[in-house]
Amino acid sequence: MKPKPTVGIAAFLSIAFAALAYSQELPPNIKKIKEGIYVYAAVLNEANATIVLSQDGVVLIDTGQSPKDSHVVMAAVKKLTSQPVRYIIHTEPHPDHAMGDFVFSPPALVIGHAGSTDSMKASESFSPARIEKLMSTSPEMRAAFNGFRLVTPQIEYRDRLSLKVGELALELYYLKNVHSEADTAIWLPQERVLFTAASVGVKRFGNHRPFVSIADTLSAIKMMKALNPEVVIPGHGDPGTVKILDNMESYYNKLMDGVGQMVKQGKSLDEIKKELKIPGTEDWEGKDRLGNNIEAAYRGVLGR
Ligand SMILES: [Zn+2]
Repeated sequence: MKPKPTVGIAAFLSIAFAALAYSQELPPNIKKIKEGIYVYAAVLNEANATIVLSQDGVVLIDTGQSPKDSHVVMAAVKKLTSQPVRYIIHTEPHPDHAMGDFVFSPPALVIGHAGSTDSMKASESFSPARIEKLMSTSPEMRAAFNGFRLVTPQIEYRDRLSLKVGELALELYYLKNVHSEADTAIWLPQERVLFTAASVGVKRFGNHRPFVSIADTLSAIKMMKALNPEVVIPGHGDPGTVKILDNMESYYNKLMDGVGQMVKQGKSLDEIKKELKIPGTEDWEGKDRLGNNIEAAYRGVLGR
C-alpha cells in the first residue's frame, strides 16, 4: 500500500503560506475600507471575504472564493492581529463563500441563517466529485484543501440577530428570496458599513434561481437603503457607496416595467427574452443571466 502524501502537502502548504504570513506587506488585493475592516478578493467579481477586527477577536464575513483564498485571508489575519478568528458570518451558504471555513473553524464559530446547513448538505457543489474537480485545477489548490471537512453553521438564526464582539456591534438581517436559500445582510451601525450579500451586484446580473423574487429583492434594497450606509460591500464586486443599491433598484424597476409592458402587449416569455433591452446595462457582466432575470420578473408580473 502506498503511503498517503499528507506530509509532503502539509510541508508545501506551510512554506507557501508562511511566506505570505511573514512578508512585510498584507497580501495583494486586500483593501482597507475603514479602521479595522479589510476586504479581500483575488480577482474582481470573485466572492469577497472581509476581516473585521475587534478588541476581543476577529469576525470574518465569508471565507473567500476557494480555500486557497481562505489561506490568504488567514495569513492576513495573522499579520493584523494576534487575536483569534471568533466568528465567521456567511452571507450565503454557497461554496464560493463557505468552502474555506475549515481553515478557521474550529475554533471559529460559523453563523448563517436557518436553512444554511440544509442548503450545504443538499448542494452538489460540496460533493466529493466537485471538490476533486476543484482540487485538480492546480497543485496549490490541492494543497489548500489539505485537512478539508465540510463545516456547516454551528449557529443558525432566524430573521434577525444582534452580535457583540468586544466593542464591535453587528446586526444580521435575513434577506428572503434574493439569491440563495439563506442570505444574510450584515450591518455595522457604528462604522455605517453594510454587507449586502448577493442581493445586489456591481454592474453585474445576479443569478436568479426559480425561487428568487424581484419584489422581495426590491424590498430588501429599500430596507438596506433605510439604514443609511456610508460603505456598501456586496457579496461580489468592488465595495462602494449607497449608489450600488440605487443602481440595482433602478435596474429592477426598469426590468419589472419593461416585462410588465410587454406582457400587456400580449408577448410570450420567449419574445420578451429576445426583445427586451434595459438601458444602462450594456456594459454589465453575466449577460447570460439576463434570461433568468427576465423569468423572475415575468413570474412577478403574473403574480406567480
Ligand atoms: Zn451564491
